[in-house]
Amino acid sequence: MHIGRLLKGYLLSDTNVNIYIDKVFRYKISINHSAIHLLNETLKRVLNIVKKGFLINEKKITFDFNYYKKISNEQLFIIEQLMNNEIIKQNIISIKKLSRQDKKNIQLVCIGKEGSYSIEFCNGTHINNTKNIVNFCIVSERSVSKGIRRIEALTNKKAIHYIFKNNLIVKNISYNIKQNIKNIEKNILNIINKQKIYIDNLKRLKKIKIKQLIKKLLNQMFYLFEYKILIKNIKIEYKKDLFLILNKILNFILNKSILILYYIKNNSIYVVIKITKDCLNIIQYSVILKTNQNIIYNNNNEFSYIKTSSILYIKKIKNKIKNILKK
Ligand SMILES: [Zn+2]
Repeated sequence: MHIGRLLKGYLLSDTNVNIYIDKVFRYKISINHSAIHLLNETLKRVLNIVKKGFLINEKKITFDFNYYKKISNEQLFIIEQLMNNEIIKQNIISIKKLSRQDKKNIQLVCIGKEGSYSIEFCNGTHINNTKNIVNFCIVSERSVSKGIRRIEALTNKKAIHYIFKNNLIVKNISYNIKQNIKNIEKNILNIINKQKIYIDNLKRLKKIKIKQLIKKLLNQMFYLFEYKILIKNIKIEYKKDLFLILNKILNFILNKSILILYYIKNNSIYVVIKITKDCLNIIQYSVILKTNQNIIYNNNNEFSYIKTSSILYIKKIKNKIKNILKK
């Protein structure tokens, strides 16, 4: 069946019209359609699949089938090799028209001599030789629903272009990582493993560094009357580490403490203030925060988090605390 759309004018039932087939478009479609037959048979042979559906256009092939697990790159490579072998073999694609009792047309599509590679019922448009597919390559393989996988593939010039483009990518990777293409896969895996070890070591070092820092900060706490105070510029990698350090310190400090940790980056000062619960009847967050600074977060049961651009703000807080505690 062919579906058309009238772009302008009008049609009457007795109007004469000239119709023509876009042969270039049809040829591209018939290549991809014929490749579907070849792919169906190849997947049956390699993976024992059952076809669930397919979609083709002049650009690509989409083929869905029953299969229970992810298909490995090695299996996909075998499928591509078998497909291209059948293309190179220049198998004849022949059509056998069958006559049925109900007089509906039906035809058999045979690939290879007497259908030696595959035979399927199909009334679609086909090329007459597998050599016209020129080339076949798989671009993706994925699950589309439970037990159903989808392969997307290219044929002809598009497949060749895709392969050459990927070849260029591999050459560029080889150039950039200064490794021979021959061993590139092994070398990239080595680089990934080394990077993993490097990151693990960095994490371990960071843990040690933080442990040392906490110890140092605990020693730097000073008494103001009976209250323990800590006001410190923390030199860390990320501002989020302020909270990590605050929590670590709180593992050692249970009461009567006021902690002010700050971190300076690009002329901004990020300040975390923690007042232990037993001090809240004497000093409240709201009193300290009585400024026009940017309060990012404030919860009287947890902590306050402020962004400021002035180091004087820290001094002001310090004086405020002193004055309150004096009383
Ligand atoms: Zn067909």
